[in-house]
Amino acid sequence: QALQIAIDGPAGAGKSTVAKLLAKQLNLFYVDTGAMYRAIAYKALMNKVPLEDEHSVTQIAKSAEVVLDHSAEGTVWCDGENVTQAIRNPEISRAVSTVAAYVGVRERLVELQRWEAKRGGVVMDGRDIGTHVLPDASLKIFLTATLQERANRRWVELEKAGKNVPYEEVAQDMQKRDRKDMEREVSPLEPAQDAVILDTTGLGVEEIVVKIVALTRR
Ligand code: C5P
Repeated sequence: QALQIAIDGPAGAGKSTVAKLLAKQLNLFYVDTGAMYRAIAYKALMNKVPLEDEHSVTQIAKSAEVVLDHSAEGTVWCDGENVTQAIRNPEISRAVSTVAAYVGVRERLVELQRWEAKRGGVVMDGRDIGTHVLPDASLKIFLTATLQERANRRWVELEKAGKNVPYEEVAQDMQKRDRKDMEREVSPLEPAQDAVILDTTGLGVEEIVVKIVALTRR
């Protein structure tokens, strides 16, 4: 079986930065599952579908064509539209955990994610990769960090992208989203029993990647 690395954890724990670098170093595909849920939230907002309307949101997930471009720098397509930038907006971050709680939405996206993993070795990041999407992954990592550190990282990211959002707002949104992700009924955010838990507070990306690479050689 090809190498499968599952990286889960709360928002802002450094999952995507770490996963991207890891994929590059180990020559694996990087699959950003959060981007898929974000694309569905984006489509729902664009189509003015109320987020509470589970049936309509599920229909969107079933019909939308979500494509992650592995050749380009993580370009995300939704029904032919390049949504890479748009799905990072705070309004999408606030909407996404509502649509991610719907069982039909998850079924559809998990199917796509497993299909991606059939193409070759992967580093996949999300919330339920180790517990549900790839239960037989070669290595499962659960990244954590203090809320303060996670919110600060996200704030810096937003600033860099030219989006000025007050730090307090970033921290509050993040906490709300984590709570929703942990409290939902289907595949809640939690470490798999066989996951290695890594606290990344105060660590740089390189250091974390070195630790994970060492774990793949166990
Ligand atoms: O990873 P990212 O922060 O982009 O994920 C956005 C949201 O998508 C999460 O807060 C969660 O609600 C949902 N998600 C999920 N399962 C995954 C990945 C993301 O429910 N595997």
